[in-house]
Amino acid sequence: LLGADGNLGITIFEEITALAGTHSAINLGQGFPDEDGPAEIRNAARRAILAGANQYAPGMGLPVLREAIADHQERFYGLRPDPGTEVMVTTGATEAIASTLLALTGPGDEVLTFEPFYDSYGAMIGLSGATHTTAPLLAPDFQPDMAALEAAFTDRTRIVLVNNPHNPTGAVFPAAVLQRIVDLAVKHDAVIVTDEVYEHLTFGPRHIPVATLPGAADRTLTISSAGKTFSLTGWKIGWISGQAELIAAVRSVKSFLTYSSGSPFQAAIAEGLRMEDSFFTDIAGTLRAKRNVLSAGLREAGLEVFQPQGTYFVNADVAPLGIEDATDLARRLPELVGVAAIPVAMFCHPEGAERTRTMLRFAFCKRFDVLQEAAERISRLNE
Ligand code: PMP
Ligand code: GLN
Repeated sequence: LLGADGNLGITIFEEITALAGTHSAINLGQGFPDEDGPAEIRNAARRAILAGANQYAPGMGLPVLREAIADHQERFYGLRPDPGTEVMVTTGATEAIASTLLALTGPGDEVLTFEPFYDSYGAMIGLSGATHTTAPLLAPDFQPDMAALEAAFTDRTRIVLVNNPHNPTGAVFPAAVLQRIVDLAVKHDAVIVTDEVYEHLTFGPRHIPVATLPGAADRTLTISSAGKTFSLTGWKIGWISGQAELIAAVRSVKSFLTYSSGSPFQAAIAEGLRMEDSFFTDIAGTLRAKRNVLSAGLREAGLEVFQPQGTYFVNADVAPLGIEDATDLARRLPELVGVAAIPVAMFCHPEGAERTRTMLRFAFCKRFDVLQEAAERISRLNE
């Protein structure tokens, strides 16, 4: 995992964002919105700072936020984790992922993910010493092949790490797929870790948390984050919930990674999670319209577009433009036409990278006019 110089390197998101900056390009690479989240929540953080919420929060998180997380899960999904022992606040979903993998796996274990996979999974599985196994998600719909999924489980599979809605593909898995994963986890006695940071960003059927499915409750850890739901990605407030003993194990790693997470932001997110239902449905509706604008623009520019059902991202194939290597293109795109995107191959091991060699991931969590301008610029690739 470590490079010859002993470094992990930096994430592809940082690399492409820096390139976008250098060339003043529209950044459809790293997934962050260009409009900040609700003023009510930002004001709540300001109030919390002025009211003195400026010292360490408890390691498990502020009680008011843990209560709000439990209430939110009850309101939307009928789940009710115990805020005292079954909910922990983390420094973004990233820390929840890192702590979980370091706590529960090590050399000799396998961690199974879909492929393409979110980049921190590969890095953290590597740091834990476990082996990373994968089951492929293939275009155009990026749904798993059930036989391949079953074949990817072994008796060494310690964790199956699910991501639904799925980054980078935008796939949303139906109940039957999720139930199959649960059944296979039960059969192989694996823990299910499910990263649901895009839980409110779906454009079709409502999100189904894995933890609600039969057989899942006592072996599932659910991770989410305020970043995407509230368009506040820089606040880095995430959380993890699930069975108390698993949370206790994850907590012991978190204790030594960061110990605790930003106090005033926790207080403010507690208020955010109590916003009316309409807030949560509106963000998905707006994002769906943005998806449609960017997808249509990319299609007009001649790319093959794979319509996502959730997340911030749409994947598109540049092969119809006669381009053979999307990674090379992504490194030149900011200078070439003033747009930045992420090569999907960056979310893959070598075999998967070969399958996704001509695919780019574009983020559509941007203003409508920005998306239109970006699509217009990409159409210049044809010139
Ligand atoms: N998981 C997935 C699938 C993501 O796309 C991201 C990026 N938002 C994260 C985890 C990291 O979330 P956070 O910024 O809350 O650490
Ligand atoms: N999750 C964001 C994405 O997929 C980026 C987060 C990061 O920069 N590490 O674009």
